[in-house]
Amino acid sequence: DVSLHLVVRVARLGSRFILLIADDRTESYRLDAVRRDFVANISHELKTPIGAVGLLAEALEQASDDPDQVRAFAQRLTTEANRLASMTQEIIELSRLQAIDVLDTAEEVKVDDVVQAAIDKNRVAADSLGITLVGGGEKRLRVWGDEAMLVTAVHNLIANAIQYSVPPSRVGIGVSGTEDTIEIAVTDQGIGIPDDELDRVFERFFRVDQARSRSTGGTGLGLSIVKHVVQNHGGEIRVWSQPGRGSTFTIRLPRVLEAAPTRSKART
Ligand code: ADP
Repeated sequence: DVSLHLVVRVARLGSRFILLIADDRTESYRLDAVRRDFVANISHELKTPIGAVGLLAEALEQASDDPDQVRAFAQRLTTEANRLASMTQEIIELSRLQAIDVLDTAEEVKVDDVVQAAIDKNRVAADSLGITLVGGGEKRLRVWGDEAMLVTAVHNLIANAIQYSVPPSRVGIGVSGTEDTIEIAVTDQGIGIPDDELDRVFERFFRVDQARSRSTGGTGLGLSIVKHVVQNHGGEIRVWSQPGRGSTFTIRLPRVLEAAPTRSKART
């Protein structure tokens, strides 16, 4: 199912020649379709929490003087509001990622720094849930890219590993390198993902079990953000999982071997 969008312009050059200019708009049509889809998805996904906020506010207004009841409604209102806030944050992040070219602002990034920052950002959540984070592997590997985006990607994988683990449990974050690639693997011993859903987890708003993910506050956007970051860096993401045993998400990126010449070196 291939469609090609060409805009053809015709101009006469004197009496003997005709100039034909064909402009290939296929990619921009495809991007328009992706954008329209995204907006439709967002509208649909926002309706549920916004509706819930409205209903809960109404219930609060009509609640009796029973402080327990008022507190219960207020707590659910806070949960839905937080959910809306994190969804909005992730939607903004995702549309930013869809619009930029990482290579415009890329610099050399130390993989150790990325992994350490991502672990640090998850430390409090892991501790409070009884999950041990274990980092390890090769040191001093480097990639070319945007450090903040790479931290977000690894952070999202670790946050999921924590979220879908059954405490007490461990989450491993390993770094390794081959001649021309580096690999960051996040492994958990959590609930795992059924085989037939594995391909879909990177889709926007997809959650394996809607009800369960909702109760844990998931938005279904975390892994699509990871996928975008990795693709923007010329890399790939893979997942291995077994229900009841755990999952491993692996990010593979092109490795930087030589230090890039600095401006002053390049001039001499
Ligand atoms: P969410 O905000 O719901 O976690 P994600 O895009 O990060 O959204 O993940 C999509 C879905 O993939 C999740 O809802 C969950 O069902 C599944 N998933 C992601 N990571 C894991 C994991 N480490 N273990 C088990 N299931 C996972």
